[in-house]
Amino acid sequence: MSKSTRLDSKENESKKLPIYLHKATLIQAVTDNTFLVVTGETGSGKTTQLPKYLYQAGFCKDGKIGITQPRRVAAITVAQRVAQEMQCTLGKEVGYQVRFDDCTSQSTVVKYMTDGCLLREILADAVLPQYSVVILDEVHERSLNTDILLGLLKKRFSNPAKATKGRSFPLKVVVMSATLETDKLSAFLGDCPVFVIPGRTFPVTCAFGFAVGPKDLESTGYIKEVVKVALEVHTSEMAGDILVFLTGQSEIERACDLLYEKAESIDYRYDVQDQTMEGLLILPLYGSMPTDQQKQIFQPPPAGIRKCVVATNIAATSLTIDGVKYIIDSGFVKQLNHNSRVGMDILEVVPISKSEAQQRAGRAGRTSAGKCFRIYTKEFWEKSMPEYTVPEIQRTSLTAVILTLKCLGVHDVIRFPYPDCPEERFILEALKQLYQFDAIDRRGRVTKLGELMVEFPLHPGLTRALLKAASLGCQDLLLPVAAMLSVENIFIRPGHPEKQKEADQNHRALAAKSGSMNDFATLLSVFQSCKSSDRPSAWCKDNWIHWRALKSAFSVETQLREILLRLQQKRDFPVETFEGNKSELFRRCLCTGYFTNVARRSVGKVFCTMDGHGSMVHVHPSSSLFDQEDKLNWILFHDVLVTSRVYVRTACPIRYEWVKDLLPKLHEVDVYELSSVAREEVTDEEMMKWEAREAAKRQQEISTEEV
Ligand code: ADP
Ligand code: MG
Repeated sequence: MSKSTRLDSKENESKKLPIYLHKATLIQAVTDNTFLVVTGETGSGKTTQLPKYLYQAGFCKDGKIGITQPRRVAAITVAQRVAQEMQCTLGKEVGYQVRFDDCTSQSTVVKYMTDGCLLREILADAVLPQYSVVILDEVHERSLNTDILLGLLKKRFSNPAKATKGRSFPLKVVVMSATLETDKLSAFLGDCPVFVIPGRTFPVTCAFGFAVGPKDLESTGYIKEVVKVALEVHTSEMAGDILVFLTGQSEIERACDLLYEKAESIDYRYDVQDQTMEGLLILPLYGSMPTDQQKQIFQPPPAGIRKCVVATNIAATSLTIDGVKYIIDSGFVKQLNHNSRVGMDILEVVPISKSEAQQRAGRAGRTSAGKCFRIYTKEFWEKSMPEYTVPEIQRTSLTAVILTLKCLGVHDVIRFPYPDCPEERFILEALKQLYQFDAIDRRGRVTKLGELMVEFPLHPGLTRALLKAASLGCQDLLLPVAAMLSVENIFIRPGHPEKQKEADQNHRALAAKSGSMNDFATLLSVFQSCKSSDRPSAWCKDNWIHWRALKSAFSVETQLREILLRLQQKRDFPVETFEGNKSELFRRCLCTGYFTNVARRSVGKVFCTMDGHGSMVHVHPSSSLFDQEDKLNWILFHDVLVTSRVYVRTACPIRYEWVKDLLPKLHEVDVYELSSVAREEVTDEEMMKWEAREAAKRQQEISTEEV
């Protein structure tokens, strides 16, 4: 087939999508309104087609069309698809930008990006002068950044008099969502019109299983069960592809391994009901997968072969795979939640909501009637699954977002127009953390340091450590570490026990080579050894390290270095000096950002955290500190893993003296004080009272000093 016929067929394909019939009216609706909500079944063509229509209708004359996605894979994959449909090279007219990966150019007019990227652009210029249309996509997912964008765009552009201030023409804002909650969205955006793309869906029959009940929340037995059910479907159901929902990369890889193994032994002459079947094509799909592998997912399987995609929640709404007729739903999802037991955000595997389960099932009924096999019991559905998924803003740390808002001049972060208000205590918690990192002062105003911190797309603690290192002239120690912590896990963990042993040995040797018992130093050493190697990919293979992850770390390091250089040149960047050895310098920089994550050994191998939660934690077996606990007193850690126990990972030993002056910061600040100054409308009387209190405090400090 020649290239042009292939493209023509893509064009014809896209004309069959439900959205195509409404092209003209949709363009008109965007023309007529500042805000517009567009809704329609997933797969109706919103994400791929609407930007193209607007481009064809001349919306790019004055500026770009920007489309946000909560997930980075979605931004990349969809941009690839649209570039193909519009017959241009990716990165030219159609491009994408996600954190640490910018594939756009001067000529880019249709730009897919993550919601986090647009938030950064707003920070650079709040009126978004380079855009003619901004499309917030997948709004029903209620990601933290999308919710903040909704609030910001409403605040800035809903007043017609203010809307064109700083711009030469008005901005158009389109908000796209799967069918849920569109009335609420429209009301939030000043009762803007809702454009419904009528879609056709076919009935999907759902069946509950027996494998997972309300008592099985901690078990991972569902992996084996989905594999079993997938094979049953393959051997007993008529043609049609299978989509399996699991929670993350390692699970998906394990399930795929099991599937390969079992699928090998199927005898197609006797075992398979549908005699036209000759094989099973097993394809994983998760966020950090290489994009060339992802392409296969969308291609129809060869004749006689059934495709089985094993995916994360990304396949629930962001990406549509044609031909799926059977869904196998594990009932679980990996979700970032604030864990009050440890006082941190952690990724947890939790039951999905009922609305999520319905969404998953719906993916089987796009082109014909389908079936959904839920491996959990009806009781699990009733007792363990919530009705709706709680928006991210109501369950995760708001620290980075609140700093962004403050830098945008939104001082009253409590009364900001959030689509759903986060609990006030989460806002206060964020203010407290920002205060602890010296990003805001006691009156809630952004400090010089805060203005520097907001420039980095990293967790504020990590940024704080990096900036400390930079002020001491040792950024070369922290930049690689920050990069390594920003990419997926670099250590390969093979499924086979023998191989696992070999990998473990290699990883231990790498840790020993870095000289000290310090997981951060190991990351630095791996980074440097690989970078200076003649054959870096071979080096990785020999050491059981993911070459692809390390390559991303190299690129991330360069980008962080560029941001830092720019800041060092532009502003009165802080400069400090330090006397002591390198290992101490390194760990003291880490202390500046991670003093919130410090623990002291209590008894045996148990450590107790110092953040006021006083949680009992253990060192994770993957750490170089594991089994050395009795030699340690104080440790600092990057993150935690909660199973039946709370484990700390990526850790290093520290000395109490290094954090002694920082630890009181964890307790000294009165959050109510921060909250009262967080509001714009502090009365003079309140301010005077507050200042009097401050003065009294100072007086007290002086008198205790004298004693
Ligand atoms: P919506 O945003 O309304 O959910 P999309 O625009 O994402 O719909 O998808 C419309 C159609 O485009 C779907 O039928 C899907 O199969 C197809 N499609 C989207 N992305 C790709 C891709 N990368 N490769 C092949 N087909 C794709
Ligand atoms: Mg979409």
